Amino acid sequence: MQTLTHFINGKQVEGRSGRFGDIFNPATGDVQAKVPMANAEEVDAAVGFAKRAQPSWAAMNPQRRARVMMEFVRLLQRDMDKLATALSSEHGKTLPDAKGDIQRGLEVVEFCIGAPQLLKGDYTDSAGPGIDMYSMRQSLGVVAGITPFNFPAMIPMWKFAPALACGNAFILKPSERDPSVPNMLAELMVEAGAPEGILQVVHGDKEAVDAILQHDGIAAVGFVGSTPIAEYIYATGCAHGKRVQCFGGAKNHMIVMPDADLDQAADALVGSGYGAAGERCMAVSVAVPVGEGTADALVERLVPKIEGLRIGPYTAGDELDYGPLITGDAKQRVLGLIESGIKQGADLVVDSRNFSLQGYENGFFVGPHLFDRVTTDMDIYKTEIFGPVLSTVRASSYEEALGYAQDHEYGNGVAIFTRDGDTARDFANRINIGMIGINVPIPVPLAYHTFGGWKKSAFGDLNQHGPDAFRFYTRTKTVTSRWPSGIKEGAILNFQSME
Ligand code: NAD
Repeated sequence: MQTLTHFINGKQVEGRSGRFGDIFNPATGDVQAKVPMANAEEVDAAVGFAKRAQPSWAAMNPQRRARVMMEFVRLLQRDMDKLATALSSEHGKTLPDAKGDIQRGLEVVEFCIGAPQLLKGDYTDSAGPGIDMYSMRQSLGVVAGITPFNFPAMIPMWKFAPALACGNAFILKPSERDPSVPNMLAELMVEAGAPEGILQVVHGDKEAVDAILQHDGIAAVGFVGSTPIAEYIYATGCAHGKRVQCFGGAKNHMIVMPDADLDQAADALVGSGYGAAGERCMAVSVAVPVGEGTADALVERLVPKIEGLRIGPYTAGDELDYGPLITGDAKQRVLGLIESGIKQGADLVVDSRNFSLQGYENGFFVGPHLFDRVTTDMDIYKTEIFGPVLSTVRASSYEEALGYAQDHEYGNGVAIFTRDGDTARDFANRINIGMIGINVPIPVPLAYHTFGGWKKSAFGDLNQHGPDAFRFYTRTKTVTSRWPSGIKEGAILNFQSME
């Protein structure tokens, strides 16, 4: 059986801790490979290499770093099929979905090619007599990223591409569930021209994460994953004096107004609710139709579409709708939540609990489920299910629907489907959620905007990618300069303007 390596200082390095994790084939349930779990010594070794490599990388002009990014984009395009196959084989998502995962990461790398423009400082000529003032953005040094299983290509790239473009060295601790693609990305970055030690991958679990959080040589940590871990990493990283940004879980609502195009809304709900088996932080998991008539008509449209979804292993073809969940534990957790929904009184209008796929009976597949008449006290409403389960919460008015999304503890994404511009505008202005779709179900901002939620979906004050990433991965230094020019003022003891 294959045992993965870490990627340290430009080389594949075997794990030395003696601890290994299982990488499953989620379609069959078999263990297909092992992943090493790093200990503090292995993390420390990576930090040492990063510290040695980083100063000359930071001193390189930003255009040359941008050229490495450009070459990296070309290599990603060259290896797209290979990367997508490796991604699907460990994650389980369909091949077109895996390519989308890589593409949305690649677009952030493309944005980072603009580093020379984005890193330009500010300059004030003659801020005072003979005085000039300028600000510059400098790299932080060695930074780290801890990423989730659900986008094993995109989210690592969201983290390391801007960090590298800003002149930092980056240590990636990807999800231990699907760790192969992160290794392949780091190898491609070296092929693209990044010096060894500038992008390293250290695999592991809490032990490796804690070593990162406690390491004095790491200046900043970016995290994406579930909310309890995001809170832990934010608090621990800040307590160790690091700059930290953490992005957590979600429960994204889609409000369907009576004037919405209901066919379009139903398609949007099926695509965003069940795509990637519901394992997306921007999945819509709650539909909120306004009015009983809207709800009845929407559910009537949803049922046949959901029952018609094609589920299978990625090898079965590109026309599949979604694949298995990531692990057997994830499957059991989702099935348990479905049982709780039934027990707590929701109507299970699409029930796939008996779903089974011939030849893949031990795989982590879960058929699609639809609950109607869900109420806010139920566990299936309060919890991020992260599976192919959509809930319908019926609202009697726009204000009531808005209130559901506003009052939920998560605030990642939200959508409204309506033909009324006034309602859409009011919604976008009043809702306390970070990313809003108007007749768009998964409003993931493009690379040149920023991505981030509110409330329990994000901790820290800057978003991911876009201009915020360049702020997060740099610090500002401001220089006030006066060259000797015959000005003699004598000693000034009062605090005063220099104008
Ligand atoms: P997770 O929190 O289990 O794991 C994320 C990372 O944290 C992994 O690298 C993992 O090894 C590490 N980790 C796990 N337990 C830890 C612990 N006790 N101490 C320290 N580190 C630990 O998340 P996941 O299951 O991989 O990903 C799914 C979650 O990520 C969902 O909640 C989803 O909404 C969220 N997510 C959020 C965004 C966003 O931008 N807001 C994007 C994608 C995914």
